[in-house]
Amino acid sequence: MRSELDNVERLSLVGQMAAGITHEIRNPMAVVRGFLQLMREKSPEDLHSYYHIVLVELDRANSIINDFLSLAQTRVSEKELALLQGIMEELTPLIWADANLRGQSVELKLSPSMPPLQLNVREIKQLILNLARNGMEAMDAKGVLTLAACEHEDTVLLIVTDTGSGIPESQLSQLFTPFFTTKSQGTGLGLPLCLSIAERHNGSIRVESEEGAGTSIIVTFPVESRAGAVRKPVYM
Ligand code: ADP
Ligand code: MG
Repeated sequence: MRSELDNVERLSLVGQMAAGITHEIRNPMAVVRGFLQLMREKSPEDLHSYYHIVLVELDRANSIINDFLSLAQTRVSEKELALLQGIMEELTPLIWADANLRGQSVELKLSPSMPPLQLNVREIKQLILNLARNGMEAMDAKGVLTLAACEHEDTVLLIVTDTGSGIPESQLSQLFTPFFTTKSQGTGLGLPLCLSIAERHNGSIRVESEEGAGTSIIVTFPVESRAGAVRKPVYM
């Protein structure tokens, strides 16, 4: 009985997701189609900016598909022993370059001698980049994005903090709903994807935000994912 209900729930979720992605992909397609039509009638000088719009929209459709596929992935991700702080150090120049273009700065705060964790490096990079991008998009020039990692009791915390707009309390419960976005160019798939990645690492995500002051997104990795602390299966 319970599994039947689960199936019904799952099917309705798949239906909602399909409706969402159809809508999201149709938007860029409509823009591309419209501009291709316009391009037939335009001079070569006008064409340049139209090419740009068409490419941006195609990239957007592509990133929606990529994020959606990552989100829909249900298999357990393969993990390896890796240093979270190493991944963060590797990504910082990339994030800094983006922040620099916006006139913002980036700080990296890493506790010394943190243990390696069982991580899917590709997914963790995707998680950090998504959180960093949200932070940057929430800030004006002069904003400061802080990437931090530390140990806390039996967990390892990854904390991405911005000095941006903050999130209205009424929106907090919607943040992880697929396709929820307040941005004209947003996909609303970033945070759901981050949550799915955190959960695939047996972790969780918490949001602390103050309107007008900024936001911290805190990803918690449990001690189980720590090297050497992986529980052996129990056979009965
Ligand atoms: P997207 O970035 O495409 O809108 P996300 O799932 O990444 O989708 O984020 C969903 C929404 O959550 C954003 O549109 C924004 O309103 C809000 N949000 C996420 N991160 C932040 C942040 N650091 N500061 C303010 N708002 C945020
Ligand atoms: Mg985002």
